[in-house]
Amino acid sequence: MSVEKKASSKKTERKGVAGKTATTFFGFEPYRSKRGEEYMSPGQVEHFRNILLSWRRELMEEVDRTVTHLQDDAGTFADPNDRATQEEEFALELRTRDRERKLIKKIAESLRQLGTGDYGYCEACGVEIGIQRLEARPTATLCIDCKTLDEIKEKQMV
Ligand SMILES: [Zn+2]
Repeated sequence: MSVEKKASSKKTERKGVAGKTATTFFGFEPYRSKRGEEYMSPGQVEHFRNILLSWRRELMEEVDRTVTHLQDDAGTFADPNDRATQEEEFALELRTRDRERKLIKKIAESLRQLGTGDYGYCEACGVEIGIQRLEARPTATLCIDCKTLDEIKEKQMV
């Protein structure tokens, strides 16, 4: 049950994973493949489903908290200065919520792919995304090469 407690310190040490057990997502132990275990074996599918499900649960709780918070605070300040601060705060919270919503959608999509057997393969070129990368980014839909290419293109467009 310590899994949930560790949630805030998520994604510690994403880089420099050189054979060591470094990456933990929400306190999950990195998956240890058995020798000769095939990619996206039932065990791996189960592993990533667990990660995605607890991540989603965490996010949904957060969204709930934000909603409650917004409702509680609405219209409590008469002072215009306070109101301005409050509005900024609201805007920030709404943005956070928006980001969380998008993430929840991505997680749902990943869970769907887990069910259809598409999970873990690059959307663009079809190669295996790799366990290690998925441990750090369970919703990744691109392999590291396609992702890098994508980012370069994005930068050029700006
Ligand atoms: Zn790719």
